[in-house]
Amino acid sequence: MCYAIPGKIKAINEKTVVVDYFGEEKKARNEFYDLKIGDYVCAQGGFIIKKVPEKEAGEIIEAWREIFFQLQDTDLRLSRLDLDKKNINKKTGTILDRAMEGLTLKKDDLEYLFRLAAPQEIELLFKTANFLRQKYHKNSCCVHGIIEISNHCASACQYCGISRHNKNITRYRMTPEEIIAAAVEACEEYGFQALVLQSGEDPGFTAKQLSGIIKGIKKKAAVLICVSFGELGMEGLEELYDAGSRAMLMRFETSNPELYAKLHPGRALDTRLAHIRRAYELGYIIMTGSLIGIPGQTVADILDDIKLAKKLRPEMYSFGPFLPHPGTPLAACPPGQSTDVLKVMALARLVDAANAKIAVTTALETVDPSGMRQGLLSGGNTVMLNVTPLKYRRHYEIYPNKAHSGDSISSQIETTVSLLKSLGRAPTDLGIRENAEDH
Ligand code: SF4
Repeated sequence: MCYAIPGKIKAINEKTVVVDYFGEEKKARNEFYDLKIGDYVCAQGGFIIKKVPEKEAGEIIEAWREIFFQLQDTDLRLSRLDLDKKNINKKTGTILDRAMEGLTLKKDDLEYLFRLAAPQEIELLFKTANFLRQKYHKNSCCVHGIIEISNHCASACQYCGISRHNKNITRYRMTPEEIIAAAVEACEEYGFQALVLQSGEDPGFTAKQLSGIIKGIKKKAAVLICVSFGELGMEGLEELYDAGSRAMLMRFETSNPELYAKLHPGRALDTRLAHIRRAYELGYIIMTGSLIGIPGQTVADILDDIKLAKKLRPEMYSFGPFLPHPGTPLAACPPGQSTDVLKVMALARLVDAANAKIAVTTALETVDPSGMRQGLLSGGNTVMLNVTPLKYRRHYEIYPNKAHSGDSISSQIETTVSLLKSLGRAPTDLGIRENAEDH
């Protein structure tokens, strides 16, 4: 199974290469390979991650060619906008028209859209986001894998089921050998080319040890590694970058500093943001976002979350619903609503139409079994499959009843690829940030 289709190099400008991908040209950054025009490469998150022998590339491209264009047709059909606006409030239509024209929406406009209540108007918001996703990103959909390497955590986030206060879960920490083996298996057996390594803030792993693991994976597999280990400190970020990781997933969870301080005892939003900004400066691609529906959050906070996320220049936005865990102080609070998350994804697409990759989170799938489909039709274009070994997976219980806790990797792939095909999406990833040449 292949999750990234190779493209042919058309031009090389120092570290930036132009890749032809079924007639479309995309740019990617090359750091590791000796490349020439005419070579075939796979890219993830805008980084060339492997050179593919011509024969192998030709076979993959041929296998995909016909289906790729069929998928494009399906996607085009599904993302067409129904312009019959007879049940649509004039103001809603006007704001969405402005978004489609690429005009900047004011905060009042975004608030108005977030507060839409009539089903046909909410549907039009989602369809507009899907139209913009198709317009700028075509039918490409990133499929990343995630390995949850440890559920130990020294932090006390009030909403999190694996925070240090929860004494009622089984803690685990994968050995470096197990992590490397799981990553290599995900790449070689299942075709993943981008993996997130995630854990709580685990004092059992130093930055040096994590670097050793990253190097170990890079030695054996061609893969974009995204780190998600919490606040490692600035030196830690540098160390992991030097080891070969090129992406960081770190949500700020809320843009409201007071609410942040309440939810994260002893922590400050500024410190979190400093990590994200420093990671960007170092050259990491950034994946960030917030929790929707967290107790104490207002609509204004949610709109600020979208604004802050955009300011952080992310490669990928990630918004998920708050889900109360019984072992936390927020156990009795109501969960976030899937419609609100979908609205936030759609608004993120409206405000950053051309750049945003937007993830469909597992938490959204947990709160709504049709969440992946809904998310992909509301502006989303990235999914993440859980490739943590099954014996550990159920213990990474940041919220209860997490989707895919018991699903094998093959069954997740089968379900996801079948859904993507039904929506006309191709599991490809040759996209790049506009400013990739800057690093
Ligand atoms: S959210 Fe992350 S840092 Fe906070 S308690 Fe959970 S695992 Fe630890």
